[in-house]
Amino acid sequence: MRHFLAKHPHLIFGAAVALAVIILGVVGTNLFQERDDVLEHATENAENIALVVERDATRNLQLLDLSLQAVIDGVKDPGVMRLPAQYRQQILFDRSASAGRYLGALLYVDAHGDIVFDSKSEFPRSGNFADRPWFTEPREHPNVGLYISPPYRSRLRDQQASIAVSRRVSHPDGSFAGVVVAAIELDYFHHLLSGLQLGAQGSIALMQLNGTVVMRLPDSQKWVGKSLKGTENYERYRRLHERSFFGRAALDGAERIYVYRQFKEVPFLISVGLGVGDIYLKWKERAQRVAFLTVLLAMSLLMAAWMLTQEFKYRLAVEKNLSLLARMDGLTGLNNRRTLDESYERELLRAQRTKSPLSLLFVDIDHFKTYNDTYGHQAGDKALAAVAMAIAASIKRPQDIAARFGGEEFVVMLPDTKLSGAEEVADRIQNAVHVLGMEHRDSEFGVVTVSIGYACSTSFDRTEQKGLIEASDHALYQAKVNGRNQSRAYRTPEVSTEVSEKA
Ligand code: GH3
Ligand code: MG
Ligand code: MG
Repeated sequence: MRHFLAKHPHLIFGAAVALAVIILGVVGTNLFQERDDVLEHATENAENIALVVERDATRNLQLLDLSLQAVIDGVKDPGVMRLPAQYRQQILFDRSASAGRYLGALLYVDAHGDIVFDSKSEFPRSGNFADRPWFTEPREHPNVGLYISPPYRSRLRDQQASIAVSRRVSHPDGSFAGVVVAAIELDYFHHLLSGLQLGAQGSIALMQLNGTVVMRLPDSQKWVGKSLKGTENYERYRRLHERSFFGRAALDGAERIYVYRQFKEVPFLISVGLGVGDIYLKWKERAQRVAFLTVLLAMSLLMAAWMLTQEFKYRLAVEKNLSLLARMDGLTGLNNRRTLDESYERELLRAQRTKSPLSLLFVDIDHFKTYNDTYGHQAGDKALAAVAMAIAASIKRPQDIAARFGGEEFVVMLPDTKLSGAEEVADRIQNAVHVLGMEHRDSEFGVVTVSIGYACSTSFDRTEQKGLIEASDHALYQAKVNGRNQSRAYRTPEVSTEVSEKA
């Protein structure tokens, strides 16, 4: 594994990138999941608030309605009507006490709108209410049931903001006899809503079904009695009846999640709005922290991987260089003996397996000892390198291998090449060395020359236990004996008689 990674350093960085992406993906998904949960939780919270308000308001209004019914029952009862004022008062209004401290007067007004009975006094205050909606509505609509008025300022109680709850009283023949009415101070609703935890940006509004605001927090003074009809959120609720939705408040412009709830038994509607900023406040803080740390982690990971990759790349380059050096002959730049031996084994096996010919040339510089003696060792080295270049330039195929065998001797290996091909290459080398035209005074040829012996694996008898190198060397000897500056092929004695001269 270590070896594999060392060979493919980019994989380390690739893996680190993948890991970083996975980490970021998992953490990101989690954060957004958490965000959804926070919103779900806030929505549930708003729904619970709406439910609590509905229950409380409904219970109180129902209690009040019972008081109204009691008055109606009493007014319709001739026995009660005949009682002295003091007892009649008790019977008519005894149940109204339970409606609590925010209750204004409980009144019975006759068909003209004048007060007949007043819970506050045996001697009714004087007043005519024929213009009030709580009077006109039950008069005009006999089936209206429990009527709840829009907010108004009370005439009897110091302009106290209130709503009135009224019921129609009918004569036995169904004709209009008057109205029983109770006033509830809006302070009751203020008290009901003000204790709820809505957050800094939260708002809560209690409305009548037509959108008239009965109480709204915060800023109750500003909104009580105003109608939300036509505003975006109210209309959206009326149209779609969604469980909850995001909206910008018509009243103050803050973005909130809204939960609307219509009361089941009373014609009221409540909207609870929680500020989006409040909802996500803590989540945002945490998310920022986690995101920052995660990005930091991912970046460190990438940086470490990148550094590791660079290190591996560097080592790979060094190793390559070293192995190249180890395979190379320092003076000539050709393959060295070790490389030749390895290649020779490999090529021999392959030639046997594929039944293809393998040719080998043995090249030896003529009279090199005297060249050294005449021109010096350094010049000898230069000549060696020049001959090596001439040899390298004479081989064409990529699989051909030229190596320094040792001293002033070279071997050229030609896979998949017949004897005729080896001859061709030998001629090319002879030529190339001639073209160099390096002066050699003490040679009969006047210039540096080479002798070459060559052999091909398919060109000699199977029964001969001779190696290719040995055979080529043998042929080289023939070339030397025969006068140097020439090439000779090794063949089995039947094919050629040249080898016999060796003996
Ligand atoms: P022949 O024609 O029979 O091959 O004669 P020769 O003198 O070339 O053969 P011999 O084997 O007697 O001498 C080889 C000489 O090559 C010996 C040495 O001086 C020279 N030689 C071997 N290796 C190097 C080398 O690395 N550098 C130099 N400058 N000379 C070398
Ligand atoms: Mg030699
Ligand atoms: Mg020689």
